[in-house]
Amino acid sequence: MSSISQEESWLPVLPESHFPIQNLPFGVFSDGGLDTIGVAIGDRILNLAALANAGLLDGVCEREILNAPVLNPLLAAGRGVWSGLRSRLIELLKTNGDSALRDLNDHAMFVVQREVSMRLPTQIGDYVDFYSSLEHATNLGKLFRPDGDPLMPNWRWMPIGYHGRSATVVIDGTPIRRPCGQRKLPTASEPTFGPSARLDIELEIGFLTGPANALGQRIPTGAARDHVFGLVLVNDWSARDIQAWEYQPLGPFLGKSFATTISPWIVTLDALEPFRMRGPVQDPAPLAYLACDDSWSYDIALDVAIQSEAMRARGLAPHVVSRTNYGMMYWNLAQQLAHATANGAIAEPGDLFASGTISGTTPDSLGSFIELSWNGTRPLSLPDGQTRSFLQDGDRITIAGTCRKSGERTIGFGSATGEILPSDAC
Ligand code: MN
Repeated sequence: MSSISQEESWLPVLPESHFPIQNLPFGVFSDGGLDTIGVAIGDRILNLAALANAGLLDGVCEREILNAPVLNPLLAAGRGVWSGLRSRLIELLKTNGDSALRDLNDHAMFVVQREVSMRLPTQIGDYVDFYSSLEHATNLGKLFRPDGDPLMPNWRWMPIGYHGRSATVVIDGTPIRRPCGQRKLPTASEPTFGPSARLDIELEIGFLTGPANALGQRIPTGAARDHVFGLVLVNDWSARDIQAWEYQPLGPFLGKSFATTISPWIVTLDALEPFRMRGPVQDPAPLAYLACDDSWSYDIALDVAIQSEAMRARGLAPHVVSRTNYGMMYWNLAQQLAHATANGAIAEPGDLFASGTISGTTPDSLGSFIELSWNGTRPLSLPDGQTRSFLQDGDRITIAGTCRKSGERTIGFGSATGEILPSDAC
């Protein structure tokens, strides 16, 4: 693959933009009409349906794939098409490349990002959430089971996960209604039903899959590159009180399935290639089906910011409560996909696999409020004078991610935001 780290686009792109020509993430937008596939460049979106219909992608990608209202057909088309399309888009957008797009001088080819709304990029058939941060799993183990070994004996042998609810995955900006549910205080003899009092976030990265495996046939770690299209930011909203009461013996259920937010732009593995890194040493060595020669971690800096209703009223900017990095996750995406299909289960185009909460080793690098506030014993101070252990109505949470490296143009994921609405009558 030829390096594009020094290329510039003939379209103006601000230096701090997450979307230089090196990124070109895929998403689905609507300007009030049809849902349309596009790639982000600077503060614009290049309309790929219009580009295909103008004949500029002929021989690279079938027009009907790019005229779909979701990215599933493109994700089904496979790595050859993905990489060919990316190369062609770079040629059309770079200075001194193919001038065909520039010569068209057709303003309908581009829309301004802030003037359109973003949609879910794929129709998500299945959603899996892992639990792959050693630090997060250890912290949650200590908080949920203070008397036992924080890590379950299986944790270092396989990427633990659960099946989430794909229909409640929502796009950036969708308000999050505080869920009702059954919960039991440790001091109470019986549970009650009502609004969650321990609403939380989980800072995660998810990957979306490409061509399906056949039923009964697994996707080995060595084939991950052909089956993973790209990555998005994920906020796995969690009701800790509902979760704590329900999670044994079968795992998370209604404490998680009310909403999961993703960012609108899928950053491709091709764009992330310069930011690949070696993950942590795994001990014990994984079983053969999880063995993995390549570096499958990615250096992605992440942060979480909160803005309360009172902060907004006073014009106070969102307050960053955590900074962490995806790169040190114990289990990587190739192992997660190999494990999720190890029994022959199918991963289809557009399915979502989230990493699990990404927590670092320091108190300011934790990916959830239950960890940041240590189960409410160390409330966080906000700039408006309030404190937070868990989320209040009106709180707005924004997660963001960027990849920075010396000699490389910075690329980013944009952000994913959700604001907490009061519960309906329970
Ligand atoms: Mn999660």
